[in-house]
Amino acid sequence: MDCMFDLNNLLRDNIKRLVPYSSARDEFKGEASVFLDANENSFGSPLPVAYHRYPDPLQWKVKYRLAEIKGVPPQNIFLGNGSDEAIDVLFRAFCRPGIDNVVLCPPTYGMYEVSANINDVTIRKATLTADFQLDLEAIEAAIDGNTKLIFICSPNNPTANAIRKEDIEMVLNNFDGIVVVDEAYINFSKQKTLIQELTEYPNLVILQTLSKAWGLAALRIGMAFAGEDIINVFNKVKPPYNINQASQELALEALGNIDQVNAWIKETVQERDKLEAALQTLPIVEKVYPSDANFLLVKTTDANGIYNRLVEQGIIVRNRSKVELCAGCLRITVGTPAENVELLNALKSIAA
Ligand SMILES: *Cc1c(COP(=O)(O)O)cnc(C)c1O
Repeated sequence: MDCMFDLNNLLRDNIKRLVPYSSARDEFKGEASVFLDANENSFGSPLPVAYHRYPDPLQWKVKYRLAEIKGVPPQNIFLGNGSDEAIDVLFRAFCRPGIDNVVLCPPTYGMYEVSANINDVTIRKATLTADFQLDLEAIEAAIDGNTKLIFICSPNNPTANAIRKEDIEMVLNNFDGIVVVDEAYINFSKQKTLIQELTEYPNLVILQTLSKAWGLAALRIGMAFAGEDIINVFNKVKPPYNINQASQELALEALGNIDQVNAWIKETVQERDKLEAALQTLPIVEKVYPSDANFLLVKTTDANGIYNRLVEQGIIVRNRSKVELCAGCLRITVGTPAENVELLNALKSIAA
């Protein structure tokens, strides 16, 4: 089956017909000195910074800077209130509640399932293989005529590994719907982003975020990269002012500090590899899975017990032991060098 991607076929009818909200800022874009078109407070805002005007609905300044950094035209970028908004918009644009379905590859990021449930969209699961790679046969078997989206998280949360590029491309080449590749942890990976492949695959949507390597989780800025037609759908469906002015300004400022971010990425990867080696020497650790992310999936002798003992010492990790293929596993974010020493000391005291 070769990919016969047709965006119009895939969209929900109501979205195809949708007349998007037209804001005051959409209807007049030129220069003027008196703005009496948006019912804002004309006197100002009770803050040192002027926040009384609605922000740019399409966040062009941020997108132009991102375009330079990512090597992709700004028209191929969507910004959401976190990647979570991009995920939700995908469901609302493409999946008919109660009729359509999506394919997930667990164990993976929990928001795909939550978003599917919120939108009343059936989930079909193609569990990863024992080495946490795609089970291509299971994916093929899960797809039917109503499958609209396949989510692939690479590097995957919580397993930490990158998904083989050939396998992702196999899915892209053989599925008529949209393949969402979530690259939230791509900055920490040996594997390269698929952004350069966007021109080759009209059905590819790549998610990234400023929440992880960029250190801006509190600002809530997620990115989607896709063909212009798909980005236009995102823009039609999203709330008009989904990224607030403060977040836009701070993101733009942060994007100027790329050297700091790159230095942190390098240090995080070094600390990750040190932490992995140190954890492997502990008797309570059965296995540390290879990581392409800023966290480690660690199989332990007693996940619940170790989790609780760490909490007693004020150290919080993520207990993933109830998750498919992750029995006994804790997910541990790489900390600062001092935090990693503290974690290791705590784990040694538990082992004793
Ligand atoms: C953390 C994470 C995100 C980020 O979500 P935001 O809403 O952008 O903060 C997205 N995908 C995965 C797999 C994650 O682990």
